[in-house]
Amino acid sequence: MPRFIDTHCHLCNGRLRGDLPGVLDRAKQAGLTAIICASAHIEESRQSLQAAREFDGVFFTAGVHPHDARLVPGDYLDELSRLAGEQYHVAVGECGLDYHYDFSPRPDQQKVFASQADLAGRIGKKLVVHTREAFADTLAILQSSGIDGGTVVFHSFTEDASCLRKALDFGATISFSGIATFANSRVLRESARLVPTDRILIETDAPFLSPEPVRKNKTNEPANVVHVAAALAAVRGVTLDAFAEVTSANAERFFGLDVAPRGR
Ligand SMILES: [Zn+2]
Repeated sequence: MPRFIDTHCHLCNGRLRGDLPGVLDRAKQAGLTAIICASAHIEESRQSLQAAREFDGVFFTAGVHPHDARLVPGDYLDELSRLAGEQYHVAVGECGLDYHYDFSPRPDQQKVFASQADLAGRIGKKLVVHTREAFADTLAILQSSGIDGGTVVFHSFTEDASCLRKALDFGATISFSGIATFANSRVLRESARLVPTDRILIETDAPFLSPEPVRKNKTNEPANVVHVAAALAAVRGVTLDAFAEVTSANAERFFGLDVAPRGR
């Protein structure tokens, strides 16, 4: 059976938290060997650490999403760097810019993103980036932070082929979510073919973005990463098994995941 890794989902979101044993059991049945629990704000980052401690195969990120940038507590960078020292922490984020919703004023988004890019660079951690309708500013902030592009992943990538080329030129890794399975995402699937084999990752972004053919499910979960893999394997002209293996190896290498049983 192929093995899969969901490199980005929100296990501590209220829609998944209540049934984590069930969610993780279904993930295991689907062939998932590891899950990265992403965080959008400080409280969720602390909860993600708890989930990683509690459940085998779960790793976590700690960060502040652009939507939450206007609400950060004054000491958020201290807290993010403290969390970065914890076992099972694999990246700073998710962080970035979202000019589609603009839930936080853009200057706040930019400041909080730049400070997290700077933090990741200083402590030598990976950076999980969210960008929506803000690609030029996102790339400019990354470039001026001095961060090594090879340590950056653009998660749930949905920008056009020209942005994708710029992200690849920067050295970043690209992660695709269920959006790549939607009927009207043909262009996105096509550009997914441009990503070199060693720089592509898959994710669910659960509980959001249920992929086809389960798009009608209101709550997405990590087991559905199999559908994301199937859609991308098809467009890249490789078998599901081969694509699952390549993306799992990429995830382990990029995030430095130790997926050996934890012996508890
Ligand atoms: Zn997310």
